[in-house]
Amino acid sequence: MAGSGIFGEIIDGDVFKYYADGEWKKSSSGKAVSIINPTTRKTQYKVQACTQEEVNKVMETAKAAQKSWAKTPLWKRAELLHKAAAILKEHRAPIAEALIKEIAKPAKDAVTEVVRSGDLVSYCAEEGVRILGQGTFLVSDSFPGNERTKYCLTSKIPLGVVLAIPPFNYPVNLAVSKIAPALIAGNSLVLKPPTQGAVACLHMVHCFHLAGFPKGLISCITGKGSEIGDFLTMHPGVNCISFTGGDTGIAISKKAGMIPLQMELGGKDACIVLEDADLDLVAANIVKGGFSYSGQRCTAVKVVLVMESIADTLVEKVKSKVAKLTVGPPEDDCDITPVVSESSANFIEGLVMDAKQKGATFCQEYKREGNLIWPLLLDHVRPDMRIAWEEPFGPVLPVIRIGSVEEGIHHCNASNFGLQGCVFTKDINKAMLISDAMETGTVQINSAPARGPDHFPFQGIKDSGIGSQGITNSINMMTKVKSTVINLPTPSYTMG
Ligand code: NAP
Repeated sequence: MAGSGIFGEIIDGDVFKYYADGEWKKSSSGKAVSIINPTTRKTQYKVQACTQEEVNKVMETAKAAQKSWAKTPLWKRAELLHKAAAILKEHRAPIAEALIKEIAKPAKDAVTEVVRSGDLVSYCAEEGVRILGQGTFLVSDSFPGNERTKYCLTSKIPLGVVLAIPPFNYPVNLAVSKIAPALIAGNSLVLKPPTQGAVACLHMVHCFHLAGFPKGLISCITGKGSEIGDFLTMHPGVNCISFTGGDTGIAISKKAGMIPLQMELGGKDACIVLEDADLDLVAANIVKGGFSYSGQRCTAVKVVLVMESIADTLVEKVKSKVAKLTVGPPEDDCDITPVVSESSANFIEGLVMDAKQKGATFCQEYKREGNLIWPLLLDHVRPDMRIAWEEPFGPVLPVIRIGSVEEGIHHCNASNFGLQGCVFTKDINKAMLISDAMETGTVQINSAPARGPDHFPFQGIKDSGIGSQGITNSINMMTKVKSTVINLPTPSYTMG
């Protein structure tokens, strides 16, 4: 059970503690933030509302701890990460339970998220050993006008204190995808978990604590992003921000100082379907891509752009699959579970009502009970409807019928987002041309968008983000190149 057994020390009464200086602590604020269970809509857990003084203290200890961590041999850093990964996977059950209660993640997916996170940490340790164990060696006479008198040695050095802010939908996985690269590269790490998902994150942090990382190297500050977020992101002690979430990331980018930013933000992933596509494959991918975790995924299929001539057939196939989705509580491992909050459900409903008013065809009846929204396919959506452009982050999927491939590409590129997209066709030449024309960070050919496997590069363009994720890119992003140049008194040529 969450907060019991080896996790007993992370809770005090009914409030979970925050983690600083290698210890679990109560905030001096005396205040707690409630985490509402999306299914029951009642308070499930409480976490500390940390103060600005506590943030200051954490930044100080993070800076000091980083100095000695950077001197810890790479193989030893990797060893500790492997240990944390094993503990995380061993204790997946209570962490998955927190994911079910805090964010209504279907039971099996909750376990998968924790296991996948352990695998990510291990892979990151291995990749770090490989890529950080290498540098470059340059000689000066390759550049015009130079003799061979300078040898340049470059290596990758840590940035300092990395601030990690993940979103609610994959709180554990998107936290470790920042923590592991930061640590293997020799940085210290301050985590600000999402409020919904904070308890799962605190359990995950305890696994790192149990692995034996040095005091102060990892800290976890809890509290509402709207209250503590600006203080954290603008803190002078922060040397890098890795953020995943919505438009909040755009605001952070404007306020942050001159530090590297990794921003993975929203998406409106388009699925372009050509006339020659295998429509059974397309329908399966649309349902999986559009409705998994009730559409609350950055890479969910968020608009289908289908050629008019095959649209009726495709819509029928998708409809019959949607009818088979199970709807209910996450404990029962239903496909469609309550969305994260009442405000999120209200926002989704607003998009649905706008589409209704403007004449979209409802393939199912719109149904909502509390935060639970039944899966809904909207056909004949037009560009004047909000749902054609906005990210519902819910189980509602618009279909726009297109007269040409160019029309589909145009709709995709007119979006302010550019995370992923996908194209279904049997013609690989056409698929490549469409992929090149789509202004998105990734294009999937004949499959729904996806973030994983976690070592693949993952990036958005336009309002979907800055920089690139994926294990290798994250390690590189959390380092800086350092050069040492050896200057010789006379040119030196090997074997000369
Ligand atoms: P969000 O509202 O932007 O919140 C993300 C994180 O930011 C949370 O930890 C939140 O804490 C924190 N936060 C809020 N205000 C802040 C502030 N002023 N300063 C610093 N941090 C602040 O996003 P969400 O609702 O959790 O997640 C959904 C969004 O994430 C969607 O748009 C989705 O597309 C996007 N997403 C993108 C990716 C990707 O890789 N591209 C992956 C997953 C999700 P609180 O919870 O305490 O408010």
